[in-house]
Amino acid sequence: MKKHNFSAGPCILPQSVLQKSSEAIVNFNDLNLSLIEISHRSKDFVDVMEKARSLVLEHMKLQNKGYQALFLQGGASLEFLMVAYNLLEKKAAYLNTGAWSDKAIREAKMVGDIVEVASSKDGNFNYIPKNYTIPEDVDYFHCTSNNTIFGTQINHFPKTNVKMVCDMSSDIFSRQMDFSQFDLIYAGAQKNMGPAGTTLVVIKEDILGDVSRTIPSMLDYKVHIAKESMFNTPAVFPVYVSMLTLQWLKDLGGIDQIEKINNEKASLLYSELDRNSLFKGFVANHEDRSKMNATFSLTDNHFKERFDTLLKEAGINGLNGHKDIGGYRASMYNALPLESVQVLVDVMKEIERIA
Ligand SMILES: *Cc1c(COP(=O)(O)O)cnc(C)c1O
Repeated sequence: MKKHNFSAGPCILPQSVLQKSSEAIVNFNDLNLSLIEISHRSKDFVDVMEKARSLVLEHMKLQNKGYQALFLQGGASLEFLMVAYNLLEKKAAYLNTGAWSDKAIREAKMVGDIVEVASSKDGNFNYIPKNYTIPEDVDYFHCTSNNTIFGTQINHFPKTNVKMVCDMSSDIFSRQMDFSQFDLIYAGAQKNMGPAGTTLVVIKEDILGDVSRTIPSMLDYKVHIAKESMFNTPAVFPVYVSMLTLQWLKDLGGIDQIEKINNEKASLLYSELDRNSLFKGFVANHEDRSKMNATFSLTDNHFKERFDTLLKEAGINGLNGHKDIGGYRASMYNALPLESVQVLVDVMKEIERIA
């Protein structure tokens, strides 16, 4: 039986998507060839790429609004640099909500001046800073919508006239929002969309071309746009699986529908966390709690061994917290069924009963 997979990334994907993609590895589109042994320039694969790119814009309601969707490589980690390379002339503003923002800042500093508008470092990143000011004279503002490690999520994005860039690696396509408030969105595929190996970049085309530096081709968004995400050989398998997941999401009813399910999962888990005195959550303000990654620990570590045994017996995988904060982390990405969260909650009740 399939395990209840709470892994933080790479993470759970829809079972039907895994089934279809495994078939395509052997015989793609009845070509009697594998998806991974045909030309990326063949019509069959070009159709996959076009479909994936158009589903992204459709889900985000960004069609015909000047946006392009790209499937690149190098992970969200390369975007930390690429964003700065393409947009940073003098100075950029960053909101620091944890390890990923920290890394984004470190890379951008190699390219220009960085203003940290606010940071939650003083609370070991257990909250989202509010009431900060974004200077008017920066090239862009960068934030991380969901902090995968610490389990916080931004619920109110600032209103600003400067360009907005967002790392949405761990909550993309999980909740509805006005995506057009952003000029550039990026996300590694492996948290809510597909296997590791491709990175989604959604970019408003007219923000490009303003920096004076020479941009190496592979780092240049304009090159990737002109070549329709095929400047070099794309990650054919990750793009294909991402396309299937985006189609799965559409068949399910899109972001509106998945958001309802994600809300149900999160409220089931957080209610138990608040009720059960054996557990405490990591995030200070409840309004900053992530619906994707819930972080918590036992109030008494005497029960750790027994709790871990119960988790194992229940078929729960991937619940260990990140090494930076320890404890537990339940990642509840789009493909995780409500039933898996119920199984976890039952184990939490069981340990309370026998404690
Ligand atoms: C996982 C993650 C990253 C890193 O992604 P890679 O694809 O491994 O480079 C960056 N930002 C956030 C928010 C993440 O969750």
